[in-house]
Amino acid sequence: KEEVDYEFMTQFDVQPIYRPRLKFSHKGTYGHAVIVGGGYGKIGAVQMAANACLSIGAGLATTFVPECGYHSLQTALPEAMVLTDAEDDYISEIKIPFKPNAIGIGMGMGTKEETVQAFGKFLKEVDLPLVIDADGLNILSQNPKLLNEIPKLSILTPHPKELERLIGEWKNDFDKLDKAKTFATKHDIVLVIKGAHTITFYGGKGYVNSTGNPGMATAGSGDVLTGMITGLVAMGYDSLPATVLGVYLHGLAGDIGASLVSYDALKATGIIENIGKAYLELF
Ligand code: AMP
Ligand code: MG
Repeated sequence: KEEVDYEFMTQFDVQPIYRPRLKFSHKGTYGHAVIVGGGYGKIGAVQMAANACLSIGAGLATTFVPECGYHSLQTALPEAMVLTDAEDDYISEIKIPFKPNAIGIGMGMGTKEETVQAFGKFLKEVDLPLVIDADGLNILSQNPKLLNEIPKLSILTPHPKELERLIGEWKNDFDKLDKAKTFATKHDIVLVIKGAHTITFYGGKGYVNSTGNPGMATAGSGDVLTGMITGLVAMGYDSLPATVLGVYLHGLAGDIGASLVSYDALKATGIIENIGKAYLELF
């Protein structure tokens, strides 16, 4: 068996990744991120991801959602632009009329056949790494042929159930890590195994996160992470540093949020609200 090399990511490890904003810069310098997802009753997932994406520092954010999401997004998140699918309640064709710097996809998207087709077609067309989460991952699990279409250096962010659907059941924790590493290497992707100690796999190496708390076991927490990583990719960070820094800041923002309201009361929006304080604590 191959030895896995693990690194425990403390603030001293992530601090050097950070790139300060430049005085003579403009919003174009920090990239245009697109968040694709949502469905009837699940537009909030996209809203939180886009909000987190802007809060981490992306220059521009556009959401792509079914038509039913239009008004709530424009009202709740005035900073974001909104593109809509022709269908009211689900995504049927993903059309982005410009070239984004990063794309996060999957939250609240569902796995309806039309959406599966749209996602498969999109994977073939797209020519930049994606951040794939939630139903994007479930579609991949249900249609394993699509795994070969994932752009290299894409970032996949499964929680334990999504991971099990992707890589199959594991016998024990060692087996899980082994399978995850193999999967990441095989598809040339960054694989984020979310949990109490989130581990990021890339290139045969595992990066163990040191921030976060059980208060983050709450609805929308993962959508926030996807938005943050997508934002960092849009800002020009490469896939691995964007992921490691995003996971760390997500946990730190959650820790700060929980210190203000308790683990129990923390909500995903509370994580977003404290991304700024996480930056201030770290840099
Ligand atoms: P999701 O299940 O997709 O909403 O993602 C949950 C997010 O919250 C992931 O980033 C997890 O790492 C984080 N999270 C969930 N439970 C815990 C926990 N007990 N300790 C620390 N982080 C957690
Ligand atoms: Mg999730």
